[in-house]
Amino acid sequence: MPAKVYTDKDADLRVIKKKTLAIIGYGSQGHAHAQNLKDSGLNVIIGLYKKSKSAAVARKQGFEVFETAEAVERADVIMIAVPDMKQAEVYENDILPNLTEGKTLAFTHGLAIHFGLIEAPKGIDVIMVAPKGPGHVVRSQYVEGKGVPALIAINEGSSKDAKKVALAWAKGVGGTRAGVIETTFKEECETDLFGEQAVLCGGASALVMAGFETLVEAGYQPEMAYFECLHELKLIVDLMVESGISGMRFSISETAEWGDYISGPRVINAQSKKAMKAILKDIQTGKFTKNWVKEYKDGLPKYKQFIEDGQNHQIEKTGQRLRSLMPWVKKRNIKGTQASYN
Ligand code: NAP
Ligand code: MG
Repeated sequence: MPAKVYTDKDADLRVIKKKTLAIIGYGSQGHAHAQNLKDSGLNVIIGLYKKSKSAAVARKQGFEVFETAEAVERADVIMIAVPDMKQAEVYENDILPNLTEGKTLAFTHGLAIHFGLIEAPKGIDVIMVAPKGPGHVVRSQYVEGKGVPALIAINEGSSKDAKKVALAWAKGVGGTRAGVIETTFKEECETDLFGEQAVLCGGASALVMAGFETLVEAGYQPEMAYFECLHELKLIVDLMVESGISGMRFSISETAEWGDYISGPRVINAQSKKAMKAILKDIQTGKFTKNWVKEYKDGLPKYKQFIEDGQNHQIEKTGQRLRSLMPWVKKRNIKGTQASYN
């Protein structure tokens, strides 16, 4: 049976209208949830640590900001929107001691609960509302009257009201405008990690960079390679999102379509799928999370090196110049404009 897709008519904002909603963290997801819920007429407060640089931004954008423990004390529903690797510590120190019966704890990704970094408290509803898009898009789509599809999950042992709260929250952030599907913490976590690693972030960046390098190494102008392998990708993906892969193929030339059929599988093939299966396995067994936790505890040496290498790649220098010539792209560059871009 196809999954039930919840829309605006299935969710009732009144369920959380009289409640205080605390969002802990005001970064990519946090600012989007906070602003969308507020614009939906709900009562939102922000919880942050003492010296957080996000606090001034949240205040400027019209929110009352408290230290996390106090925000939890004041709130009925508490969403943890701090980075996954920091959640356990914040939870132990500031959330759990103030999590009295009747409160709801909410997540926007299942990792901490699914892999046991946080043990779900007993007698407390634990829910997830996970928009399937970056925080800045969750906000910009909402402002445009649209919405990013979202997933909800209700952890075992929660009351029967928990789902109504999750659906109301999903409506408040704009998710039910697009469609909301119910899942589990496990399914959301594993598919989310897989998607971002193999396809959306890891797969797509590696594909773009390999294409760019291939053209540049063959002596073509980097600017040409940039337009061809990076800029135009969005235009093609927009067609896929609007009309499916066949719809995209309908729009491109016959020559492009023929090349798609015969050359696509030369790049992504049985071997790539084998690699994807290995990636999925590492996610399912917890190996990925275990290594990521270790890297975090070690002070992120590899992570920092990856960032530096990425920023120094030729495609970034080329892109910076070309994007500066396209004011509409430049205007939307989120780097530096957001609450707490790290
Ligand atoms: P982020 O952009 O890095 O923002 C983290 C926020 O948490 C910042 O405001 C930061 O403040 C604050 N913070 C850090 N340590 C804190 C502490 N000890 N106590 C209170 N606040 C603290 O994080 P994010 O990417 O939104 O990720 C948050 C959650 O959303 C994660 O579970 C992630 O998996 C999930 N998620 C994210 C996206 C996305 O689009 N990024 C998409 C789906 C799900 P400072 O600025 O002061 O450091
Ligand atoms: Mg993710």
